[in-house]
Amino acid sequence: MTIDYENLKKANEPFFKEYMAAFQATAESGWYVLGKQVAQFEADFAQRCNRKFGIGLASGLDALYLGLLSLDLPQGSEVIVPANTYIATILAIINAGHKPVLVEPDPRTYNIDPKRILEALTKKTRAIMLVHLYGKVCDMDPILSIAKDAKLAVLEDVAQAHDARYKGRPAGSFGEAGAFSFYPTKNLGALGDAGALLVDDEALANKVRALRNYGSFKKYVNIYRGVNSRLDEVQAAFLNIKLAHLSAITLHKRALADIYDAHLSGGFIKPVRHPDFEDVFHIYNIRHPKRDALKAYLQENGIGTEIHYPIAPHKQEAMKGILDSYDGKLPITEEIHATTLSLPISFAHTTKEVERVVEVLNDWAKTKA
Ligand SMILES: *Cc1c(COP(=O)(O)O)cnc(C)c1O
Repeated sequence: MTIDYENLKKANEPFFKEYMAAFQATAESGWYVLGKQVAQFEADFAQRCNRKFGIGLASGLDALYLGLLSLDLPQGSEVIVPANTYIATILAIINAGHKPVLVEPDPRTYNIDPKRILEALTKKTRAIMLVHLYGKVCDMDPILSIAKDAKLAVLEDVAQAHDARYKGRPAGSFGEAGAFSFYPTKNLGALGDAGALLVDDEALANKVRALRNYGSFKKYVNIYRGVNSRLDEVQAAFLNIKLAHLSAITLHKRALADIYDAHLSGGFIKPVRHPDFEDVFHIYNIRHPKRDALKAYLQENGIGTEIHYPIAPHKQEAMKGILDSYDGKLPITEEIHATTLSLPISFAHTTKEVERVVEVLNDWAKTKA
């Protein structure tokens, strides 16, 4: 049996019939950008995440970027961000004219370490860009208390944590704004690019609505130097369908995570679980010092895996002159990048397939590790 890391066709197949009908209705409506489907998705998704306003955008990166831009921080402000995030979080900060300040994660949760946020504060710090990595919400109580004391804005990168909760509260509802991606591989994935920003402040919502549409509230009257980052009707129509299945997707992924948790042998570092955190397992990662050999062994046995991520942001060519001064100063981040491996855990995977992955992993641990 071969087991792909991800098979997007299989993961979407259960919804094809509904998608086809939604596509036909949208095509026949004659309205293709920012219409009824987008408005419905914005309202429903905002409500689901305990937010007042949703703004549909073209991507997760745009949600992060426009969220930051709308806060109007002084140019060159320092923005705290986890060092082990996906590059998009950092690009959003740089593109908005600010300085990313990298902070190490807690090696058990992979999320930003609140104690280290305190150490990174300077007079120029204006915001914290949180990332709820792999589908686990950050340790919000200490972070919100630090932000309040230091008068910092809090933005959340929720690209990997749709429906995740912390002490009962949904991801994306904690800071000034929550930025979501609906890229096809995400837990709530469209059939193309899509994103959204969720906020409670009406003025902020209006500003982002204008920014996504050339900085204009009224046709041909431009207040801000905006961008084109509008969400397509057809993607919103697919998302309205997928949203109704998001709980089922989350429960399925959690059940697969339970199998890994219960049966993987002690040789692997597994994700930590805690009753305050309702994780949604966008990714299920394990860590092992012989990660590359393990990945190759799984591949020989027909099992696909991924690495999130192979190169840390501060080691990227694109960040030369911006982040390379961090070289050698982020041992936890570098250790995670060298040892992490993401296992199959999609809506398309069966419990049998995951049991097979566990079997191959445990064999390797017994005989080759
Ligand atoms: C996917 C992702 C993004 C970017 O989302 P896009 O829709 O691809 O622009 C940002 N941050 C994180 C943590 C992500 O996983």
